[in-house]
Amino acid sequence: MILRPFLDALISETQQSFPPGPGGPAPLILDYRFDEPMAAHTTFKVGGPADLWLRPGGELFSLFTGLLLSRAGEAGFPVFILGGGANLVVSDRGIRGIVLDTGDWTGIEQEAGGLYVKSGTSIDEITEYAARQGLSGLEFLAGLPGTLGGAVWMNARCYEKSVSDILGETEILVVNGKTAERRRVSRYPGDFSYKRSPFQGQDKLILGARLSVSRGDPEKIRREMTEYREDRERKGHYRYPSAGSVFKNNRDFGSSTGQIIEELGLRGLHLGGARIAPWHGNIIINTGNAGAADIRSLADLVAARAKAERGLELEREILFVGDWEETGAESPAEKRNIDNETRGNL
Ligand SMILES: Cc1cc2nc3c(=O)[nH]c(=O)nc-3n(C[C@H](O)[C@H](O)[C@H](O)COP(=O)(O)OP(=O)(O)OC[C@H]3O[C@@H](n4cnc5c(N)ncnc54)[C@H](O)[C@@H]3O)c2cc1C
Repeated sequence: MILRPFLDALISETQQSFPPGPGGPAPLILDYRFDEPMAAHTTFKVGGPADLWLRPGGELFSLFTGLLLSRAGEAGFPVFILGGGANLVVSDRGIRGIVLDTGDWTGIEQEAGGLYVKSGTSIDEITEYAARQGLSGLEFLAGLPGTLGGAVWMNARCYEKSVSDILGETEILVVNGKTAERRRVSRYPGDFSYKRSPFQGQDKLILGARLSVSRGDPEKIRREMTEYREDRERKGHYRYPSAGSVFKNNRDFGSSTGQIIEELGLRGLHLGGARIAPWHGNIIINTGNAGAADIRSLADLVAARAKAERGLELEREILFVGDWEETGAESPAEKRNIDNETRGNL
């Protein structure tokens, strides 16, 4: 296993690079596994093994991830950055190289006018925190699966509001040859648009972001959050494993993508264990034994029918990642090129 010596060297370099404090060097908190099934880390519950899955946390997170990204680049190992896995279909063949899971890089700090949130913090934890503190502005995100990092990267949008509407600075890790530095990126409105962020088309690790909030009425905040969560439940979001909407909406089409798919008579259609939700045209669900290939074939079928029967090019929202060599779908490296138009000020 060629990644084993790589990992050993990385751990040792991280420990040596950290100046020891009075109590000795800070411990490196690191969970890792070889051949880790990605089905355990995605909301769709599909995905074969990642060659090496790593979940670092604690004080040495940015030092470790900086070294990881730099050394993996030199050694030619691809690194895929994982948030909550709520927008992903990982290939049944898994992911070659390294998966960097940000799930242990969590924390929320209150600042003047906002919150600074580490990227691995779940959206639920953030909205609950804001509600407890009587801070308003994030209610629309209540019930959104995933982490802050994924929501910023995707520029997630719920109930007519996008993450970019409440985003201040984002902090990213930029690798420069052998070193990595933390860099703050201001939000320029032109860099973000519907479900697009300047981080797409990049392989930069998002470390954290500042979110704008203001004092509000705690009862009203709580009420609104409950309404959003209940609405999602009514719409069947949590009934089966899925990754939410498969395709983006497009105003030029005149109706929502879900409605178009329903008009095509595709609701309820299934392929293997993957099924177009009988209650929502734009959600594919895993009924229990779906493979990633079933989900991909079903999504391709929907796109082909929309094109053939309505002349519409549906744009995928869910990301197909990992080793899709046989089908020619996106590999992590190709995925980084999704959007090179919106590089903004990175
Ligand atoms: C039931 C359900 C309902 C949903 N409803 C909505 C909805 O209303 N609106 C909506 O927009 N989406 C929705 N989604 C999709 C999903 O919740 C969002 O896309 C979410 O923002 C993904 O976050 P994540 O942390 O899971 O990211 P992942 O799925 O893990 O990753 C998504 C992308 O972000 C990148 N990424 C993640 N973290 C980082 C980081 N720290 N640094 C750099 N890159 C990173 C990954 O590499 C990947 O390219 C829904 C999903 C489900 C399952």
